[in-house]
Formats: sequence, structure tokens, C-alpha cells
Amino acid sequence: MELDTISAISTPMGEGAIAIVRISGEEAVVIADRLYKGKKSLREVESHTINYGHIVDPKSGDVIEEVMVSVLKAPRTFTKEDMIEINCHGGIVSVNRILQLVLNEGARLAEPGEFTKRAFLNGRIDLSQAEGVIDLIRAKTDKAMNVAMKQVEGKLSQRIQKLRQALLETLAHVEVNIDYPEYDAEEMTLALLKEKAEYVQKDIERLLQTAQQGKILRDGLSTVIIGRPNVGKSSLLNSLVQETKAIVTDIPGTTRDVIEEFVNIRGVPLRLLDTAGIRETEDVVEKIGVERSRKVVEEAELVLLVLNYNETLTAADEELFQISKGRDRIILINKSDLPMKTDMERIRKLAENQPVITTSILMDEGLDELEEAIKTLFFKGDLEPGDMTYVSNSRHIALLEQAKRSIADAIEAAAAAMPVDMVQIDITKTWELLGEVIGESVHDSLIDQLFSQFCLGK
Ligand code: GDP
Ligand code: ZN
Repeated sequence: MELDTISAISTPMGEGAIAIVRISGEEAVVIADRLYKGKKSLREVESHTINYGHIVDPKSGDVIEEVMVSVLKAPRTFTKEDMIEINCHGGIVSVNRILQLVLNEGARLAEPGEFTKRAFLNGRIDLSQAEGVIDLIRAKTDKAMNVAMKQVEGKLSQRIQKLRQALLETLAHVEVNIDYPEYDAEEMTLALLKEKAEYVQKDIERLLQTAQQGKILRDGLSTVIIGRPNVGKSSLLNSLVQETKAIVTDIPGTTRDVIEEFVNIRGVPLRLLDTAGIRETEDVVEKIGVERSRKVVEEAELVLLVLNYNETLTAADEELFQISKGRDRIILINKSDLPMKTDMERIRKLAENQPVITTSILMDEGLDELEEAIKTLFFKGDLEPGDMTYVSNSRHIALLEQAKRSIADAIEAAAAAMPVDMVQIDITKTWELLGEVIGESVHDSLIDQLFSQFCLGK
């Protein structure tokens, strides 16, 4: 495959002060060398070295920036092509100028995700690893980051490969049975098929079980704060946001009218919905009405219902209990620094078995308990993620669901002593579906669509 030389600005995560101009392709070294003045020409330096020098505009002779240039020769690079990384400390203006010079010298501006796409096309990483990179770019909390990292490192790929291997071995046994019918291994083969298929089924199920948590770790647990005016919703929001300091707001693809804020509660990323409503109107329920609250509640995965410790329970409170009934919910009775006037017994009854926490946001009391409750609710008493391999990608989930169905068909057919080649069809299908998770036999359009989700420069 002939691929041209591409370039883009690629700023490393968590190192805002340094910017990198990346170049990948056959011409990478030559192009960079035309702009570089250092002790040695970049064409002469060894691969995998970092070289100090300056970027000079070849036309004007102006020195643009003091830089460190990494020279990485194929194939031991991310894209498996020759790569150059120009590290500069200057601001965005000089970085842009360097990129412009690189483009003038003949590189093409990389499309979003194109570096990773090349790594995939050149066989450096498989598709699930590439998708891990997408998630890594978007990861909201450390835990989400770990999940994405595991995927990049190929944990999911390894597990899928192992399953496919098991299926392949099973198919080999079926072949024996078909090729030598006189050998009369039919019964044995069916028993073995069933055993292997059940092993695969269990593992697919385990992967799918973690999917829900994985999705939340990646996208955030959509959360809404409801309550009558003046109970302390905005105060709660501010306190959550301040305490955790982990806020990402600018999410591509979200509309401006619903502002979302991300906060990290003990490793659980909450995506607080409609915070604009709380912030701007100051009383959601009154202004937007119960009907719309109902809608917001329906869209949320977690409801925080705030009541006032210092007031009697009202009809509006009861109504809020009603509209959020059956949802994952935590009830907060706020302003516990003031005298109690509410009806605790009634609240406990309305709350059914959901957590009820008394707080004073003003005095910073009860918030630890709230955080603990969120964590417990999310991990449902499970161990912490630790070493689990999460399936956090909806494409993977859909494929695994299908694989689960076809392996169930295989087990059923084997149990019913159906002809062995019937079982073989289902097992082959499962094997193919699992292959799609790691990018074997996927179509070009799918690949393009996936890689276009990347940020520029990755
Ligand atoms: P919202 O209308 O539900 O968003 O309520 P706000 O967060 O705007 O709070 C309404 C008023 O209650 C403000 O004056 C807050 O300072 C006050 N407030 C919030 N939490 C507490 C608390 O725990 N104790 C007391 N005494 N006042 C609080
Ligand atoms: Zn408010």
C-alpha cells in the first residue's frame, strides 16, 4: 500500500505546555530535515533519538523555534512508518507555523485519527486497540482511563483471541468427525463441542456483564438533581463540582442548550444533566414544571432527590418521589444544621429501600456519605474494577450479544444431538462475530467511520 506523508499537531495528554508536530510516512525525515538546523542532519542521526536544534523557515531563513526532534524509523513506530515528532515549548502560534512549514514541504494535513488508522492498516494494532485509543482520548476519570488503557494494551483482544482459538480447536474436532464418519466419534464430538461452547459462552457473558459498568466509566453516569426551590440543589451541584475538581465540559456532539458537567465521585464519573436549568432558573421544578422534570428524570441513570430538613414535607415533594419512583435514586435531606421539621418516617417509607442521607451542604456534612452511596450503587458491591477487562464500546457490545446468541444456538443443537455440521455452522458464526470485534473481516466504511471519531493528531 502506498501511503502519503501526513502531519498534524498532536498535544500529549496532561502536558499542556508542550506541543508536538507529528509527521508520518516515507518522506517524514526528509521533510523535517529541510526545516531543521542542528548538529547533524536528521537523515544522519540514528533512529529513536531525540535531537536538539532549531526550526528555520527555508524561504526567509527566520528561526522559528528551539525544538527537540524525535526521529523514529520504521517499523518500530506507532504507525509502522518513519515518524518525526517535533517537540516545541512555544505557544500555539509557533506550533501552527511549524505545521504550516511541514505542509509547505509536501506533507498532507492528517485527518482526525489518521495516525491511529495507519497503525491499524499497517498491522500495528487491531481494531479494538484502535477503539481503545478513541476512548483514551475521551476518558473522563482515572478509572475510565484504566479501562481504555487495558483495551489499548490489547487485554480485550487477548481474551477474544483466546476464545476464537478455543472455537477453532473445536471446529478442528468437528472436521475429524466429518472426514472420518466411520470413526464414529459423533457422540464424543458432540459432548466436546458442548463443553467448549459452554466455556466460550461463559466468557462472553462475563465480558457482557462488565459492559454496563464499562459504558458508564466511559460516558459518565447521567445524573439529575431534583427538588423544590430553595432546598439546596445549586449548592449541592457547586459542592460536587468544587470538591472533585475534575470537570470536562466541552463534549463534542452535545448541544449547547443542555450543559453537562463531569465530576469524578470516587472513581465514578457523574455526568450532571441540565445543570444549566439549575444554575439559571434557580428552581427547576417550578419553572420547567413537573412534566419536564419527569422527562429529565427518565433520561437519567441516577436521580438525586433533595428535600428540606427544615420544612414539612409538601405535596410537591411527594410528587417528586412519584416521578422518580423505580429509578436508581439517592434521597438527600438537606439543611440538617437547622431544626428538623420534616417527617423522617414518611420519607423513609417513600424512599423504600433506597439510601436516605441527611446533609448540611452549608456545613459540609453528609457529603462523604453521599459519595460512598454513589460508589456503592455503581459498583453494586462488586470488587473494584482492578483487573477486569471492561467492554465499553457499543459496537463490541452489539457483536458480543450476537456471538452470545449464536453460541447458545450451538449448545442447544449439540444438546439436542443435531447433526454435527449444524453445530459447526453456529460455531463458525460465533468465531466470525468475535473476529469482527478485533477488526478481522470488517468493511472499509466501518473503518473510516471509526477513525474519523479521533481528535486531530492522534
Ligand atoms: P436551590 O433553589 O434548590 O438550588 O437551592 P440553593 O442551592 O440555591 O440554596 C437555597 C438557599 O439555601 C441558599 O441561600 C443556600 O445558601 C441555602 N442552603 C443550601 N444548603 C444549605 C444547608 O445545608 N444549610 C443551610 N442552613 N442553608 C443551606
Ligand atoms: Zn438553585
